[in-house]
Amino acid sequence: MTAPASDGRFGAFGGRYVPEALIPACRTLEREFAQAWADPGFRATLSRTLRLYAGRPTPVTPATRLSAELGVTVLFKREDLAHTGSHKINNVLGQALLAQRMGRTQMLAETGAGQHGVAAATAGALLGLDVTVFMGAKDVERQQLNVFRMELLGATVVPVTSGGQTLADATSEAFRHWVGRSETAHYCIGSTLGPHPYPLMVREFQRVIGEEARAQCSELLPAAVPDFVVACVGGGSNAAGTFAGFVDTSARLVGVEAAGGAAIGRGSPGILHGFESYLLQDGDGQVLEAHSVSAGLDYPGVGPEHAHLADSGRATYVSATDDEVLAALVKLARTEGLLGALESCHALAWVLRAAGTSELPTGSTVLVTLSGRGDKDAAQVRELLK
Ligand SMILES: *Cc1c(COP(=O)(O)O)cnc(C)c1O
Repeated sequence: MTAPASDGRFGAFGGRYVPEALIPACRTLEREFAQAWADPGFRATLSRTLRLYAGRPTPVTPATRLSAELGVTVLFKREDLAHTGSHKINNVLGQALLAQRMGRTQMLAETGAGQHGVAAATAGALLGLDVTVFMGAKDVERQQLNVFRMELLGATVVPVTSGGQTLADATSEAFRHWVGRSETAHYCIGSTLGPHPYPLMVREFQRVIGEEARAQCSELLPAAVPDFVVACVGGGSNAAGTFAGFVDTSARLVGVEAAGGAAIGRGSPGILHGFESYLLQDGDGQVLEAHSVSAGLDYPGVGPEHAHLADSGRATYVSATDDEVLAALVKLARTEGLLGALESCHALAWVLRAAGTSELPTGSTVLVTLSGRGDKDAAQVRELLK
């Protein structure tokens, strides 16, 4: 996983497909990010904030009882223990500090279920930035508690009533709002998506997951590096950050998509929200809505670098069904005392299905990124288990 080409492409994917009016904003962001990332002062401020505020480093926890049951050694990278309950804080703190460095006073964000919106509102409150979160009107209705959380943190939530009134529409609206305001507002995208430099920048802000895990695995595993590194894939940010720490090793990288949102598994190349990648679309190129038990994996596309890693064969992408995910969540709770997010349980669902087969042979070592905690999903899981 390296820098994309100068046009923002990872192999055949990525790029910068935005209206003319947003090209200067993307160029400025590309330059400012590159300078900040090369600046030891910026890196030190981000590291310090991640450590003193967000609770990093998160541990790697050996899953003893689960490992004995499966016949493979499972380790969890515990992003559920990061502040706000998932890896999303890593990215928003990076982008909020960058926005501050660029002299921006406002931050725009899109959100689906509300997790990225809450994280963005949190970072905005910490750094004194005005945060506006665009959210599909349907999601506003379904996620009232998260809307309240964002408002409590001082953010403004704007319901988006166009199209299907969900995440894809909220993202389009956030881009529209950014036009003409890029001198004062930074658009904080929540995953490894969007026009160049976002997929690169978000991966770099999430790289801390993989780098920490690499060092932690070397202390816990005799072979230092696990045989398999597994993460769930929505837009692909927790997977990209995890894979970045292991891409130069012999570890097999496995991304797990939701069966109803499998852009790599069932999609075809297309352009959405400023980048080219695999997308769920019909024969006419109409983008289809993704459906998954976990709102965080309900995006019809996937980050361009994952599309490239899939094509190059360096990473493998599989999918898990809602039923498998629910079973994995219960198994994790009862064998390890961990309530995982439904998103994260996609990664574990593949491990449960594959363990002991030729896909994941007995005796293997597996690092699974537990991208978030499941408290947010408890009410939904209760209904699903009825
Ligand atoms: C948002 C979210 C995801 C999906 O996003 P990625 O960019 O694919 O990482 C996964 N897990 C949790 C807990 C999330 O909140």
